[in-house]
Amino acid sequence: MATLETQIPLPILDGHQHARPAYARGPRSIDSLRLLRISVTDRCNLRCVYCMPEKGVKFLPRTALLSPGQIETVARTARDLGVTHVKLTGGEPTVRRELLEIVRRLDAIGFEDVSLTTNGLQLNRLAAPLREAGVDRITLSIDSLRADRYRKITGGGRLDLVHQGIESARAAGFSRIKINMVVIRGLNDDEVADFAELAREEAWTIRFIEYMPLGESRVLEDFDGGDEAPGLLENHEVRSRIETRIGPLFPVNRASETGVGPAEVFTSEGLRGRIGFISAMSQPFCEQCNRLRLTATGVLRACLFDGGEIDLGPMLRAGADTASLAGAFQSCVAMKPETHSARGGRQMSQLGG
Ligand code: SAM
Ligand code: SF4
Repeated sequence: MATLETQIPLPILDGHQHARPAYARGPRSIDSLRLLRISVTDRCNLRCVYCMPEKGVKFLPRTALLSPGQIETVARTARDLGVTHVKLTGGEPTVRRELLEIVRRLDAIGFEDVSLTTNGLQLNRLAAPLREAGVDRITLSIDSLRADRYRKITGGGRLDLVHQGIESARAAGFSRIKINMVVIRGLNDDEVADFAELAREEAWTIRFIEYMPLGESRVLEDFDGGDEAPGLLENHEVRSRIETRIGPLFPVNRASETGVGPAEVFTSEGLRGRIGFISAMSQPFCEQCNRLRLTATGVLRACLFDGGEIDLGPMLRAGADTASLAGAFQSCVAMKPETHSARGGRQMSQLGG
Protein backbone atom coordinates (compact mmCIF):
# COMPACT_ATOMS: atom_id res chain seq x y z
CA MET A 1 0.00 0.00 0.00
CA ALA A 2 1.27 3.49 -0.79
CA THR A 3 2.18 5.65 2.16
CA LEU A 4 1.49 9.31 2.65
CA GLU A 5 4.96 10.10 1.35
CA THR A 6 4.40 8.26 -1.92
CA GLN A 7 0.92 9.58 -2.46
CA ILE A 8 0.47 11.31 -5.75
CA PRO A 9 -0.88 14.85 -5.60
CA LEU A 10 -4.35 15.33 -7.01
CA PRO A 11 -4.34 17.24 -10.26
CA ILE A 12 -7.23 19.57 -10.84
CA LEU A 13 -7.96 19.59 -14.51
CA ASP A 14 -10.20 21.95 -16.35
CA GLY A 15 -12.76 20.67 -18.81
CA HIS A 16 -10.37 20.97 -21.75
CA GLN A 17 -7.44 18.97 -20.45
CA HIS A 18 -8.10 15.36 -21.22
CA ALA A 19 -4.75 13.87 -20.29
CA ARG A 20 -4.72 10.50 -18.57
CA PRO A 21 -2.28 10.58 -15.65
CA ALA A 22 0.46 7.96 -15.72
CA TYR A 23 -0.79 6.32 -12.53
CA ALA A 24 -4.23 5.57 -13.97
CA ARG A 25 -3.25 2.18 -15.30
CA GLY A 26 -6.42 0.18 -14.62
CA PRO A 27 -8.89 -0.55 -17.40
CA ARG A 28 -11.55 2.12 -17.10
CA SER A 29 -14.55 2.40 -19.34
CA ILE A 30 -17.47 4.78 -19.34
CA ASP A 31 -19.69 1.70 -19.88
CA SER A 32 -19.03 0.67 -16.29
CA LEU A 33 -20.57 3.85 -14.91
CA ARG A 34 -23.82 3.29 -12.98
CA LEU A 35 -23.83 5.65 -10.02
CA LEU A 36 -23.31 9.37 -9.59
CA ARG A 37 -22.92 10.59 -6.01
CA ILE A 38 -24.02 14.20 -5.92
CA SER A 39 -22.94 16.38 -3.01
CA VAL A 40 -25.39 19.26 -2.65
CA THR A 41 -23.51 21.12 0.10
CA ASP A 42 -20.27 20.99 2.07
CA ARG A 43 -22.07 22.26 5.20
CA CYS A 44 -23.26 20.11 8.04
CA ASN A 45 -25.13 20.42 11.32
CA LEU A 46 -22.72 17.90 12.94
CA ARG A 47 -18.94 17.64 13.37
CA CYS A 48 -18.24 13.90 13.36
CA VAL A 49 -14.71 13.25 14.65
CA TYR A 50 -13.75 11.14 11.64
CA CYS A 51 -15.12 13.56 9.08
CA MET A 52 -14.61 17.20 10.05
CA PRO A 53 -12.34 19.29 12.23
CA GLU A 54 -14.08 20.41 15.40
CA LYS A 55 -13.54 24.10 14.89
CA GLY A 56 -12.46 26.39 12.14
CA VAL A 57 -14.31 24.60 9.37
CA LYS A 58 -14.32 26.87 6.37
CA PHE A 59 -17.45 26.47 4.31
CA LEU A 60 -17.92 27.54 0.73
CA PRO A 61 -20.00 30.61 0.04
CA ARG A 62 -23.49 29.54 -0.99
CA THR A 63 -22.99 31.31 -4.34
CA ALA A 64 -20.24 28.80 -5.17
CA LEU A 65 -22.66 25.86 -5.11
CA LEU A 66 -24.11 24.41 -8.28
CA SER A 67 -27.69 25.55 -8.76
CA PRO A 68 -30.49 22.96 -8.95
CA GLY A 69 -30.62 23.58 -12.72
CA GLN A 70 -26.87 22.95 -13.11
CA ILE A 71 -27.12 19.76 -11.04
CA GLU A 72 -29.94 18.63 -13.32
CA THR A 73 -27.81 19.32 -16.43
CA VAL A 74 -24.96 17.18 -15.09
CA ALA A 75 -27.38 14.44 -14.02
CA ARG A 76 -28.99 14.34 -17.47
CA THR A 77 -25.55 13.87 -19.03
CA ALA A 78 -24.89 11.07 -16.55
CA ARG A 79 -28.20 9.41 -17.40
CA ASP A 80 -27.38 9.59 -21.14
CA LEU A 81 -24.08 7.86 -20.39
CA GLY A 82 -25.74 4.94 -18.61
CA VAL A 83 -25.99 6.08 -15.01
CA THR A 84 -29.04 4.44 -13.43
CA HIS A 85 -28.61 5.45 -9.78
CA VAL A 86 -28.00 8.81 -8.13
CA LYS A 87 -27.18 9.33 -4.47
CA LEU A 88 -27.60 12.72 -2.81
CA THR A 89 -25.05 13.45 -0.15
CA GLY A 90 -23.10 16.32 1.44
CA GLY A 91 -21.94 17.57 3.91
CA GLU A 92 -25.40 17.04 5.20
CA PRO A 93 -27.82 17.17 2.26
CA THR A 94 -30.80 18.15 4.40
CA VAL A 95 -29.22 21.53 5.23
CA ARG A 96 -29.35 22.59 1.56
CA ARG A 97 -32.37 24.83 1.21
CA GLU A 98 -33.15 23.79 -2.36
CA LEU A 99 -32.92 20.05 -1.61
CA LEU A 100 -36.54 19.30 -2.49
CA GLU A 101 -36.25 21.15 -5.78
CA ILE A 102 -33.09 19.21 -6.60
CA VAL A 103 -34.84 15.91 -5.85
CA ARG A 104 -37.83 16.85 -8.03
CA ARG A 105 -35.55 17.67 -10.92
CA LEU A 106 -33.65 14.38 -10.54
CA ASP A 107 -36.88 12.43 -10.23
CA ALA A 108 -38.11 13.91 -13.50
CA ILE A 109 -35.02 12.56 -15.32
CA GLY A 110 -36.19 9.01 -14.76
CA PHE A 111 -33.35 7.25 -12.91
CA GLU A 112 -34.02 3.76 -11.59
CA ASP A 113 -33.15 4.95 -8.12
CA VAL A 114 -32.71 8.27 -6.33
CA SER A 115 -31.37 7.86 -2.81
CA LEU A 116 -30.13 10.09 -0.01
CA THR A 117 -27.53 9.66 2.72
CA THR A 118 -28.20 11.68 5.86
CA ASN A 119 -27.40 11.92 9.54
CA GLY A 120 -31.16 11.82 10.06
CA LEU A 121 -31.45 14.84 12.34
CA GLN A 122 -33.89 16.64 10.07
CA LEU A 123 -35.87 13.66 8.80
CA ASN A 124 -38.63 14.40 11.25
CA ARG A 125 -39.45 17.45 9.15
CA LEU A 126 -38.24 16.25 5.77
CA ALA A 127 -38.94 12.52 5.36
CA ALA A 128 -42.45 12.92 3.94
CA PRO A 129 -41.63 15.81 1.58
CA LEU A 130 -38.52 13.97 0.36
CA ARG A 131 -40.58 10.88 -0.38
CA GLU A 132 -43.14 12.98 -2.21
CA ALA A 133 -40.42 14.75 -4.21
CA GLY A 134 -39.07 11.41 -5.45
CA VAL A 135 -36.48 9.94 -3.07
CA ASP A 136 -36.69 6.12 -3.29
CA ARG A 137 -34.34 5.14 -0.47
CA ILE A 138 -32.68 6.62 2.57
CA THR A 139 -29.41 5.68 4.25
CA LEU A 140 -28.80 6.96 7.77
CA SER A 141 -25.38 7.32 9.32
CA ILE A 142 -25.33 6.39 13.02
CA ASP A 143 -22.09 5.58 14.80
CA SER A 144 -23.32 4.80 18.29
CA LEU A 145 -26.54 3.59 19.90
CA ARG A 146 -25.57 5.28 23.17
CA ALA A 147 -26.80 8.86 23.46
CA ASP A 148 -23.70 10.14 25.29
CA ARG A 149 -21.26 8.56 22.96
CA TYR A 150 -23.27 9.63 19.91
CA ARG A 151 -23.11 13.21 21.16
CA LYS A 152 -19.35 12.93 21.63
CA ILE A 153 -18.63 11.39 18.23
CA THR A 154 -20.84 13.81 16.33
CA GLY A 155 -19.95 16.96 18.23
CA GLY A 156 -23.34 17.49 19.87
CA GLY A 157 -25.83 15.36 17.91
CA ARG A 158 -29.02 14.15 19.63
CA LEU A 159 -29.76 10.46 19.20
CA ASP A 160 -33.42 10.94 20.12
CA LEU A 161 -33.83 13.14 17.04
CA VAL A 162 -32.31 10.42 14.90
CA HIS A 163 -34.81 7.90 16.32
CA GLN A 164 -37.63 10.31 15.54
CA GLY A 165 -36.19 10.72 12.06
CA ILE A 166 -36.22 6.96 11.50
CA GLU A 167 -39.85 6.77 12.62
CA SER A 168 -40.77 9.62 10.27
CA ALA A 169 -38.96 7.88 7.42
CA ARG A 170 -40.85 4.70 8.13
CA ALA A 171 -44.16 6.58 8.32
CA ALA A 172 -43.38 8.27 5.01
CA GLY A 173 -43.06 4.86 3.35
CA PHE A 174 -39.28 4.32 3.29
CA SER A 175 -39.06 0.61 3.92
CA ARG A 176 -35.60 -0.36 2.70
CA ILE A 177 -33.64 1.74 5.19
CA LYS A 178 -29.88 1.31 5.38
CA ILE A 179 -27.85 2.24 8.44
CA ASN A 180 -24.17 3.06 8.01
CA MET A 181 -21.83 2.67 10.96
CA VAL A 182 -18.24 3.85 10.57
CA VAL A 183 -16.32 1.55 12.88
CA ILE A 184 -13.40 3.17 14.69
CA ARG A 185 -11.16 1.11 16.91
CA GLY A 186 -11.28 2.34 20.47
CA LEU A 187 -14.20 4.67 19.80
CA ASN A 188 -17.26 2.57 18.98
CA ASP A 189 -15.99 -0.88 17.95
CA ASP A 190 -17.52 -2.44 21.10
CA GLU A 191 -20.96 -1.74 19.59
CA VAL A 192 -20.69 -3.62 16.30
CA ALA A 193 -22.72 -6.62 17.48
CA ASP A 194 -25.37 -4.30 18.98
CA PHE A 195 -25.73 -2.66 15.58
CA ALA A 196 -25.98 -6.06 13.88
CA GLU A 197 -28.79 -6.96 16.28
CA LEU A 198 -30.89 -4.17 14.74
CA ALA A 199 -31.29 -6.39 11.68
CA ARG A 200 -33.05 -9.03 13.80
CA GLU A 201 -36.21 -7.01 14.34
CA GLU A 202 -36.09 -4.68 11.37
CA ALA A 203 -35.77 -5.35 7.65
CA TRP A 204 -32.93 -2.84 7.52
CA THR A 205 -29.46 -3.27 6.05
CA ILE A 206 -26.82 -2.49 8.66
CA ARG A 207 -23.54 -1.65 6.95
CA PHE A 208 -20.15 -1.58 8.62
CA ILE A 209 -17.79 0.89 6.98
CA GLU A 210 -14.06 0.71 7.51
CA TYR A 211 -12.77 4.03 8.66
CA MET A 212 -10.97 5.81 5.82
CA PRO A 213 -8.17 8.24 6.64
CA LEU A 214 -9.14 11.30 4.65
CA GLY A 215 -8.60 15.02 4.98
CA GLU A 216 -7.97 16.51 8.42
CA SER A 217 -9.82 13.85 10.40
CA ARG A 218 -9.24 14.19 14.15
CA VAL A 219 -8.81 10.41 14.44
CA LEU A 220 -5.57 10.97 12.56
CA GLU A 221 -4.08 13.63 14.78
CA ASP A 222 -0.99 11.61 15.63
CA PHE A 223 -0.79 9.68 12.38
CA ASP A 224 2.76 9.75 11.01
CA GLY A 225 1.79 8.55 7.55
CA GLY A 226 2.71 4.88 8.14
CA ASP A 227 0.82 2.03 6.52
CA GLU A 228 -1.72 1.38 9.24
CA ALA A 229 -3.84 4.36 10.21
CA PRO A 230 -4.97 4.52 13.83
CA GLY A 231 -8.66 3.83 14.19
CA LEU A 232 -8.92 1.25 11.45
CA LEU A 233 -10.54 -2.03 12.47
CA GLU A 234 -10.66 -4.33 9.48
CA ASN A 235 -14.04 -5.77 8.58
CA HIS A 236 -12.96 -9.42 8.92
CA GLU A 237 -12.58 -8.68 12.64
CA VAL A 238 -15.93 -6.85 12.74
CA ARG A 239 -17.55 -9.83 11.04
CA SER A 240 -16.07 -12.28 13.48
CA ARG A 241 -17.37 -10.26 16.45
CA ILE A 242 -20.83 -10.16 14.88
CA GLU A 243 -20.83 -13.90 14.18
CA THR A 244 -19.87 -14.60 17.77
CA ARG A 245 -23.07 -12.83 18.83
CA ILE A 246 -25.61 -13.72 16.15
CA GLY A 247 -24.25 -16.82 14.43
CA PRO A 248 -22.77 -17.51 10.99
CA LEU A 249 -23.36 -15.02 8.18
CA PHE A 250 -24.29 -16.25 4.70
CA PRO A 251 -23.65 -14.20 1.56
CA VAL A 252 -26.64 -12.78 -0.26
CA ASN A 253 -26.65 -12.47 -4.03
CA ARG A 254 -25.90 -8.79 -4.61
CA ALA A 255 -28.13 -8.71 -7.68
CA SER A 256 -31.14 -9.14 -5.40
CA GLU A 257 -30.19 -6.12 -3.31
CA THR A 258 -31.20 -2.52 -3.93
CA GLY A 259 -28.57 0.00 -4.94
CA VAL A 260 -25.30 -0.59 -6.75
CA GLY A 261 -22.93 0.03 -3.86
CA PRO A 262 -19.70 -1.75 -2.97
CA ALA A 263 -21.01 -3.55 0.13
CA GLU A 264 -20.69 -7.30 0.53
CA VAL A 265 -24.09 -8.30 1.87
CA PHE A 266 -24.93 -11.13 4.27
CA THR A 267 -27.82 -12.57 6.19
CA SER A 268 -28.08 -14.97 9.09
CA GLU A 269 -30.70 -17.24 10.58
CA GLY A 270 -33.36 -15.22 12.34
CA LEU A 271 -32.46 -11.90 10.72
CA ARG A 272 -35.15 -9.89 9.00
CA GLY A 273 -32.61 -7.48 7.62
CA ARG A 274 -29.12 -7.68 6.14
CA ILE A 275 -25.57 -7.11 7.26
CA GLY A 276 -23.22 -5.32 4.85
CA PHE A 277 -19.50 -4.67 4.90
CA ILE A 278 -17.76 -1.87 3.03
CA SER A 279 -14.09 -2.68 3.23
CA ALA A 280 -12.38 0.03 1.23
CA MET A 281 -9.19 -0.22 3.28
CA SER A 282 -8.67 -3.96 3.76
CA GLN A 283 -10.18 -5.08 0.45
CA PRO A 284 -10.27 -2.20 -2.03
CA PHE A 285 -12.96 -2.75 -4.65
CA CYS A 286 -11.44 -0.37 -7.22
CA GLU A 287 -11.67 -2.92 -10.05
CA GLN A 288 -15.45 -2.94 -9.74
CA CYS A 289 -15.85 0.78 -9.19
CA ASN A 290 -18.93 1.99 -11.05
CA ARG A 291 -19.24 5.52 -9.73
CA LEU A 292 -18.19 9.11 -10.08
CA ARG A 293 -18.59 11.89 -7.54
CA LEU A 294 -19.79 15.42 -8.10
CA THR A 295 -18.82 17.93 -5.42
CA ALA A 296 -21.15 20.73 -4.38
CA THR A 297 -19.26 23.23 -6.57
CA GLY A 298 -19.31 20.99 -9.63
CA VAL A 299 -15.99 19.17 -9.51
CA LEU A 300 -16.34 15.73 -11.04
CA ARG A 301 -14.10 13.38 -9.13
CA ALA A 302 -12.72 9.99 -10.17
CA CYS A 303 -12.13 8.49 -6.70
CA LEU A 304 -12.49 9.33 -3.00
CA PHE A 305 -8.76 8.98 -2.47
CA ASP A 306 -6.77 9.53 -5.64
CA GLY A 307 -7.16 9.96 -9.35
CA GLY A 308 -8.12 13.20 -10.97
CA GLU A 309 -10.84 15.79 -10.95
CA ILE A 310 -12.47 17.83 -13.66
CA ASP A 311 -14.12 21.10 -12.71
CA LEU A 312 -17.40 21.25 -14.61
CA GLY A 313 -18.19 24.68 -13.08
CA PRO A 314 -16.61 26.80 -15.83
CA MET A 315 -18.17 24.59 -18.50
CA LEU A 316 -21.63 24.85 -16.93
CA ARG A 317 -21.35 28.60 -16.53
CA ALA A 318 -20.35 28.90 -20.18
CA GLY A 319 -23.44 26.90 -21.15
CA ALA A 320 -21.55 23.78 -22.28
CA ASP A 321 -23.49 21.35 -24.45
CA THR A 322 -24.13 17.75 -23.42
CA ALA A 323 -21.39 16.47 -25.75
CA SER A 324 -18.65 18.41 -23.97
CA LEU A 325 -19.99 17.42 -20.57
CA ALA A 326 -20.06 13.80 -21.70
CA GLY A 327 -16.42 14.19 -22.81
CA ALA A 328 -15.52 15.41 -19.32
CA PHE A 329 -17.24 12.36 -17.78
CA GLN A 330 -15.26 10.07 -20.06
CA SER A 331 -11.98 11.74 -19.18
CA CYS A 332 -12.80 11.53 -15.49
CA VAL A 333 -13.56 7.80 -15.62
CA ALA A 334 -10.24 7.30 -17.41
CA MET A 335 -8.47 8.95 -14.46
CA LYS A 336 -9.55 6.37 -11.92
CA PRO A 337 -6.49 4.95 -10.18
CA GLU A 338 -5.75 1.27 -10.44
CA THR A 339 -6.13 1.02 -6.71
CA HIS A 340 -6.38 3.77 -4.16
CA SER A 341 -3.60 4.75 -1.76
CA ALA A 342 -3.58 4.61 2.04
CA ARG A 343 -4.64 8.16 2.60
CA GLY A 344 -6.81 10.64 0.72
CA GLY A 345 -6.12 14.36 0.68
CA ARG A 346 -9.64 15.75 0.53
CA GLN A 347 -12.03 15.91 3.43
CA MET A 348 -15.01 13.51 3.31
CA SER A 349 -17.51 16.32 3.88
CA GLN A 350 -16.26 17.91 0.65
CA LEU A 351 -16.58 14.69 -1.28
CA GLY A 352 -19.81 13.23 0.04
CA GLY A 353 -18.58 9.75 0.93
N1 SAM B 1 -23.93 13.82 6.29
C1 SAM B 1 -24.39 12.65 5.64
C2 SAM B 1 -24.14 11.43 6.51
O1 SAM B 1 -23.38 11.53 7.48
O2 SAM B 1 -24.68 10.38 6.16
C3 SAM B 1 -23.84 12.44 4.25
C4 SAM B 1 -22.39 12.75 4.00
S1 SAM B 1 -21.25 11.69 4.82
C5 SAM B 1 -19.71 12.39 4.29
C6 SAM B 1 -21.42 10.18 3.89
C7 SAM B 1 -20.94 8.94 4.58
O3 SAM B 1 -19.54 8.99 4.71
C8 SAM B 1 -21.50 8.74 5.98
O4 SAM B 1 -22.04 7.43 6.10
C9 SAM B 1 -20.29 8.90 6.86
O5 SAM B 1 -20.40 8.14 8.04
C10 SAM B 1 -19.19 8.42 5.95
N2 SAM B 1 -17.86 8.90 6.32
C11 SAM B 1 -17.49 10.18 6.60
N3 SAM B 1 -16.16 10.23 6.88
C12 SAM B 1 -15.69 8.97 6.78
C13 SAM B 1 -14.40 8.36 6.95
N4 SAM B 1 -13.34 9.08 7.25
N5 SAM B 1 -14.30 7.03 6.76
C14 SAM B 1 -15.37 6.29 6.42
N6 SAM B 1 -16.61 6.79 6.23
C15 SAM B 1 -16.76 8.11 6.42
FE1 SF4 C 1 -21.72 15.74 8.84
FE2 SF4 C 1 -22.07 13.37 7.67
FE3 SF4 C 1 -19.60 14.36 8.06
FE4 SF4 C 1 -20.99 13.59 10.16
S1 SF4 C 1 -20.30 12.27 8.47
S2 SF4 C 1 -19.83 15.54 9.97
S3 SF4 C 1 -23.03 14.09 9.56
S4 SF4 C 1 -21.13 15.19 6.72
